Amino acid sequence: MIADATVESDDTAAILAGIVDQLAELRTGLDMTGPQAHAALQQILLIRNLADHHAATLTGDLDRFGVADGHGRRLRELLTVMGCAPAVAARFVRVGTAIDIDPLVRRAADGAISSEHADAIVRGLSHIESRSTEPVDPDLRSAQLMSLMSWSSAGMTPAQITDHARTIANELAADADAGVPAAEDKSINELGYHKTDDGRLDVRANLDAVAGEKLHSLVEALSAPKPQPDGSHDPRAAERRRADAFESILELAERGLADETVSCKPTGGVLLTIPADAPKLSALEFMGSVTPATAKALGCDAAVTVVIVDDAQVPLNVGREKRLFTPAQRKALLLRDECCVKCGAPASRTQAHHLVSWVDGGPTDLDNGCLLCTACHHDVHDRGWDVVMGFDRHPWLVPPAGVDPKRRPLPAYNRRTLHLDNAA
Ligand SMILES: [Zn+2]
Ligand SMILES: [Zn+2]
Repeated sequence: MIADATVESDDTAAILAGIVDQLAELRTGLDMTGPQAHAALQQILLIRNLADHHAATLTGDLDRFGVADGHGRRLRELLTVMGCAPAVAARFVRVGTAIDIDPLVRRAADGAISSEHADAIVRGLSHIESRSTEPVDPDLRSAQLMSLMSWSSAGMTPAQITDHARTIANELAADADAGVPAAEDKSINELGYHKTDDGRLDVRANLDAVAGEKLHSLVEALSAPKPQPDGSHDPRAAERRRADAFESILELAERGLADETVSCKPTGGVLLTIPADAPKLSALEFMGSVTPATAKALGCDAAVTVVIVDDAQVPLNVGREKRLFTPAQRKALLLRDECCVKCGAPASRTQAHHLVSWVDGGPTDLDNGCLLCTACHHDVHDRGWDVVMGFDRHPWLVPPAGVDPKRRPLPAYNRRTLHLDNAA
């Protein structure tokens, strides 16, 4: 037996080595016609499906042999070390450890289904199972599998298959007339995010009615249009206003948490490092590189820890005390500015902005500070608005040339009845 198995695995190794050689030697594109390239791509996609099927099956084998010495996470880590992207590794683990689903495995073994589609089907089935109050009857389960597979054969995307599984699960839950309806079921809530190629964060959430209501009411409350200082209407689209509102919510939460956690935990909170010799290389801990302009804006943010480092990433000074306005200074700013100096948003949603950036050596004192809400703060740091200190020791707003070609200073929101002529 043992000798046979060895021979077989030697054969497999030889066959695989042959396939690798042939693929490596394959030359495409040079003398091909369009239809030939199309046909060749179809074959290559078939090979990809087959290769992915074997990868998932082998991942299942590794799991059974206990190669990674544990389930789930460890196996995924092993695949990541072998060169898989984390999302791909997770997919192979899910599909590979669920190969008791015969009809699906047979189609995958023919190369007729991609591992992304197989994964959507496997996840769909387990979602339906998680929504059922009692074990799913085998016949019903196989009907569900066929239904999901027919969506795949009909050319639906993995996301559409996932939605279809949700619908099946919701129907079942409604029929069972037991437990919580999907709309109120927190156990299926999801929040996912991934970094995009252009360094942004793509966020996707699916929430129950109560969590959804909380999000909706807060975003609505914080995203009302705000007139510009000259009285013209808010130029931000609704989507942009909601995104600004979402960031305000994060800042408020961060501020609430800061009091409890900042003193003892080294993790948590936003960390910005600025190399002393190369401010252009400023970076956020998770999201990575940011421009010097954003680094300066973050210098105003009480929820951010800014660390200046030397060229060996050794912190030179954490500077929190000198950088942030003290509670007493914030009260003084509140007394003078009352609200966001640009749009009048309540002081509770404002940050203390340095007129001359702290990163550029601006001092943290009353004459170099003013209150700005999140959206207006971005206008000042990124969109050409300036704040200058007037001879009256009140902040004045200087619009960008695109808003007022003469860039005439406007008083702070709480002093809008004034003009520069009568301010003195
Ligand atoms: Zn504002
Ligand atoms: Zn600022």
